[in-house]
Amino acid sequence: MTPGDTPLVELHAMAPVGTRLFAKLEWHNPTGSIKDRAAWFMFQNARQAGLLTPGMPLIESTSGNTGIGLARLALINGHPMTICLPANSTPERKQLLRAYGARLVEVDGGPNESIEMAKALVASGEGYMCYQYGNPGNPEAHEFGTALEIIRDWPLDEAPDHVFCAYGTGGTLTGVSRGLRKRYPDIRVHSVEEFVDDPISGMRSQADPFQPPVADFGLVTDRHEVRKGEAAEMVHEVMQTEGHFVGTSSGAILHAAVNHLSAHGGTAVTVLPDAGWKYLSGAPWAELAAPATCGAT
Ligand code: PMP
Repeated sequence: MTPGDTPLVELHAMAPVGTRLFAKLEWHNPTGSIKDRAAWFMFQNARQAGLLTPGMPLIESTSGNTGIGLARLALINGHPMTICLPANSTPERKQLLRAYGARLVEVDGGPNESIEMAKALVASGEGYMCYQYGNPGNPEAHEFGTALEIIRDWPLDEAPDHVFCAYGTGGTLTGVSRGLRKRYPDIRVHSVEEFVDDPISGMRSQADPFQPPVADFGLVTDRHEVRKGEAAEMVHEVMQTEGHFVGTSSGAILHAAVNHLSAHGGTAVTVLPDAGWKYLSGAPWAELAAPATCGAT
């Protein structure tokens, strides 16, 4: 199963009055996230270039979704996989990675420390790293995949006014903006970011000292910083109004999109990276984990 061809749906109930809001549901990918697209492109490119030879170990640093996508490809193509990730990543992510057969190297600190650890393993000759932060295949997966699908499936006669993407490695933002601008020269491109002191899983802040080399903000017209609490509120709202079970970065994107549309109007497409499964023990849903107080009947 190859990634892509995810549904583009309208969010009727969430759209502010007089606006139209659409969402590309990226959890309809083989391992449940948008990062299957980048994993597939980088993996194929490395095999075709002869950088990744049969049976060669793969190493990657990732807070989860890219690792899960790569671990699946490694598993079904016969490559051992090592993932360096922050020790405080949610248990669901770690379990999923182990389920896909990956060896985990848990690192104290955040994504930046995980990158350093993965680089050290590669330097000691332990295998090939796709390095999503600097690999052109990461944005290309969106320029030639995600963006073209949006253009193909956009249901209105008029071009979309806005597109909203989360900023993590910058792959989605860079690729989608390049792909959509060719067809929609006036589209406004919105980068949705975390606050540097209030991290959201999978996202990044432009205030972070490390800026991924693949991230190109040249076509970005607007930036939105979103608090984790605001994203969590929106995760609940989209569940209650539309019945979509989204992850926290999707909540952040929808927070930015709904606020912007209510102030400025127009039509927007959002690219929602993953569903809520990996976050059940985290902020948006933690209270549901409390033991039931009523007796069983
Ligand atoms: N949301 C989630 C849940 C992610 O895992 C990622 C990937 N880091 C993103 C958003 C951002 O995507 P990108 O890496 O393409 O910027």
